[in-house]
Amino acid sequence: MAKKLPKVDVVIVGVGWGGGIIAQELTKQGLTVVGLERGKERKTEDYFMVHDELRYALRYELMQDLSKETITFRSNTRIRALPMRQYGSFLIGTGLGGAGVHWNGQTFRFLPYDFQIRSKTIERYGEKKIPDNMTIQDWGITYDEMEPYYDRFEKLTGISGEENPLGGKRSSPYPTPPMKQTPAMKMFADAATKLKLHPYMMPSANLSQQYTNEDGVSRAACQYCGYCERFGCEYGAKADPVVTVIPVAKKSGKFEIRTHSHVRRILHTGNKATGVLYTDVTTGEEIEQPADIVVLTSYVFNNARLLLLSKLGRPYDPATGKGVIGKNYAYQVIRGGATGFFEEKEFNLYAGAGSLGMTLDDYNGDNFDHSDLKFIHGASISFSQTGQRPVANNPVPKGTPNWGKDFKAASIKYFNRALGVGAQGSSMPFRQHFLDLDPTYRDAFGDPLIRITFDFEEQDRQLAAFTADKCGEILKEMGATQIDVRRELGPYDITPYQSTHNTGGVIMGASPDISAVNNYLQMWDVENLFVIGASAFPHNSGYNPTDTVGALAYRAAEGIAKYAKGSGGLLV
Ligand SMILES: Cc1cc2nc3c(=O)[nH]c(=O)nc-3n(C[C@H](O)[C@H](O)[C@H](O)COP(=O)(O)OP(=O)(O)OC[C@H]3O[C@@H](n4cnc5c(N)ncnc54)[C@H](O)[C@@H]3O)c2cc1C
Ligand code: SF4
Repeated sequence: MAKKLPKVDVVIVGVGWGGGIIAQELTKQGLTVVGLERGKERKTEDYFMVHDELRYALRYELMQDLSKETITFRSNTRIRALPMRQYGSFLIGTGLGGAGVHWNGQTFRFLPYDFQIRSKTIERYGEKKIPDNMTIQDWGITYDEMEPYYDRFEKLTGISGEENPLGGKRSSPYPTPPMKQTPAMKMFADAATKLKLHPYMMPSANLSQQYTNEDGVSRAACQYCGYCERFGCEYGAKADPVVTVIPVAKKSGKFEIRTHSHVRRILHTGNKATGVLYTDVTTGEEIEQPADIVVLTSYVFNNARLLLLSKLGRPYDPATGKGVIGKNYAYQVIRGGATGFFEEKEFNLYAGAGSLGMTLDDYNGDNFDHSDLKFIHGASISFSQTGQRPVANNPVPKGTPNWGKDFKAASIKYFNRALGVGAQGSSMPFRQHFLDLDPTYRDAFGDPLIRITFDFEEQDRQLAAFTADKCGEILKEMGATQIDVRRELGPYDITPYQSTHNTGGVIMGASPDISAVNNYLQMWDVENLFVIGASAFPHNSGYNPTDTVGALAYRAAEGIAKYAKGSGGLLV
């Protein structure tokens, strides 16, 4: 029998960016909030003097322990899914701050086209442009409606950047100036400009200068240490939930965080959630936390999984296309890029930051004509200088042996002479790509794991070949002496790292037949349950997701506050 605690106004499942923003905003409204986080407490001091590539980047110290809980994967419904027993394609965060602690801080807005993708594609190219089984849909919100929330997330985090010449309209400039431009970034910008493209400085949560936000949180400038992605920031320069939203929520006296608290079910009666059931993993005790409002902020996979385990919402069935929980899982097309080798030039690539680079959007969204192309949407193309760490970086030209004396010689020679120009390709949803509960494999508590069914489609292969060629053209203009272009995408392989930009499963939309949540991320079927994160994205864009996750969290917080003060019912 679970121990039952006194009721609170709001219980949050998972305390990353989503959970942290909800806690900060709802405590400002006077609501009492409990945040349940399965991982441990985290603080900036944990990262003092530990630039340890093996420990963090290669042994994943900050990530979810896959021996306790993982995902299973199969490329289609005809084969059995197998568990991901070691990290590959993506990394899943855990602990206070979630993946927000070890992200890069590349903070892009999605394009206006993204939010109205279906209607805008039909308007320009006709319905036939969309393949039968591609399940794109409008998001139930426009870019103009999203803009104020983007603005709030960017002011919260102090984003350093300059206007994207091909992006949506901004109501105000970025709060801090762009990061420093390195010589390699300047080469990229000059080459792209010569090719009549529109490069701009990558928007960065790493901070070009000291910044104090509207909540009085002050952070230092980035030191370009290069140990950013997969690491916590020892200077507190990188915006993360632990140094921004969580302290503000705690200071209110209305936010209680319980770490080591693994939520296993959302409790409900009829069409209302009544609280959650969780296990204190330090004692094994089962605890019930009743609440008036339940907010899921436990990332794409656990948002969908907890709904399915709790039998809430209508599970998606790929055979009929009906149901919504698990629908429209999407990923990204990262592998279509190019590496240039420079015989005559050396760069200081060990210096860098998680979001130090230049980007262009000429081939992203619908910024170019797709009439003669066999794909829709596109990719942002970037050169990033994130810091070339010594263990995992061995760029060598095609044809170099994979081991031995020649490999070592080439690896040393090219360590500071190779530049990658990469494409971050969008990912469209297809009827056959989805999340559901695995019938075979279970976690340490005995609960079914979430299962991913996904593969690359012809859309993705065409997109990768197209963007790889564009990356190669830029490197040629930059003066690379050898260029290795990666045009071939092949089937999706879950073993090499690609991107932790998984999306979908609890998608938003204008009506309950095609979506699980409305544009306040309130569940259509359970009015006091809100589901926040990239799980709400009906497709994935050609950018990193967190600006959009943060913006939607601000919008959801506004909706939850309205719901809490009103007389109930759906907000839309
Ligand atoms: C290496 C890396 C680099 C990245 N770089 C970028 C970037 O440059 N730009 C960008 O936009 N995005 C980037 N991302 C993605 C970004 O980190 C995520 O979009 C963002 O952190 C998601 O926030 P979230 O709050 O939705 O989820 P999370 O940060 O994953 O937080 C969810 C929290 O829920 C907890 N949780 C899960 N299940 C349970 C449960 N059952 N009970 C209790 N707690 C639970 C987890 O422990 C976790 O703390 C990167 C991700 C990684 C891994
Ligand atoms: S690169 Fe900058 S923001 Fe990233 S960890 Fe180092 S100092 Fe912090």
